[in-house]
Amino acid sequence: MAATLIDGKAFAAKVRGQVAEHVARLKEEHGITPGLAVVLVGEDPASQVYVRSKGKSTVEVGMNSYEHKLDAETSEADLLALIGKLNSDPAVNGILVQLPLPKHMNEELVINSIAPEKDVDGFHISNVGLLGTGQKSMVPCTPLGCLMMLRDHHGSLSGMDAVVIGRSNIVGKPMAQLLLGDSCTVTIAHSRTKDLPEVVRRADIVVAAVGRPEMVPGDWIKEGATVIDVGINRIERGGKNVLVGDVDFASAAERAGAITPVPGGVGPMTIACLLANTVTAACRAHNLAEPEGLTA
Ligand code: NAD
Repeated sequence: MAATLIDGKAFAAKVRGQVAEHVARLKEEHGITPGLAVVLVGEDPASQVYVRSKGKSTVEVGMNSYEHKLDAETSEADLLALIGKLNSDPAVNGILVQLPLPKHMNEELVINSIAPEKDVDGFHISNVGLLGTGQKSMVPCTPLGCLMMLRDHHGSLSGMDAVVIGRSNIVGKPMAQLLLGDSCTVTIAHSRTKDLPEVVRRADIVVAAVGRPEMVPGDWIKEGATVIDVGINRIERGGKNVLVGDVDFASAAERAGAITPVPGGVGPMTIACLLANTVTAACRAHNLAEPEGLTA
């Protein structure tokens, strides 16, 4: 392997440490303990695991965690009423509604009912607009984590050619906005892109967020490029269930200058950035200085 491994697990531990330090300072100097409320509707097993792990990580950095578990038949009106209460609760700085929601609920309506300054997922339409216009916003956690790793590796990203594969609202589009904000020349590729291999071969930075196991082979990667693999795909290999990314790690690592592994790359950064967003939201709520290096 020629590429440097970008160790997301170690980087996420560092970010969590910075968050914990800032939380301790907020408590000591201002008597403030930031709080994150996570709302789960229904019993989706994967969502239950995510919510548990978010709650545990929140407590580990010294913040308060408020878990609200509602059954799958809860009405949309009742969920909106709960969000309304959390919006006006000063102990709650961040609100996260675990997606997907049951089919009888309108996800957009629910997300847009969260107070934008408490929207630590960064999905509220106001935050999307603020990010798109280069203003201070809450930034979606996964792309924020990718940006932090890229800045850490390169210092400045100015003038680099970046290709984001995938145009989802939660990863691809905000990732492209963040890279643009750091003065990259950005291309968003997607399922209808013509000659994807040639588009990717131009890139100094490749961010793959597709959800197709190992679809990007090494010979699409420009020599020395940085590869950030957002994909999390569960496949069967050699009779075992394994996690792989959207990039064929072995062949890409032969050509890339730096690459994130799956698992242990982008994944751990997502929760670390959720904690970072919550402490940022708490600082903004109290007009205090935001932690450095934890926002876009
Ligand atoms: P999505 O399904 O919403 O979007 C996938 C995008 O890929 C679409 O925009 C589509 O146009 C594009 N696409 C599909 N087929 C393509 C092809 N053949 N060529 C080029 N583009 C193609 O997915 P998402 O929510 O953005 O997630 C993408 C991946 O990232 C998934 O594997 C998901 O599990 C993973 N993910 C990881 C984290 C994390 O914490 N690491 C967070 C969110 C998502």
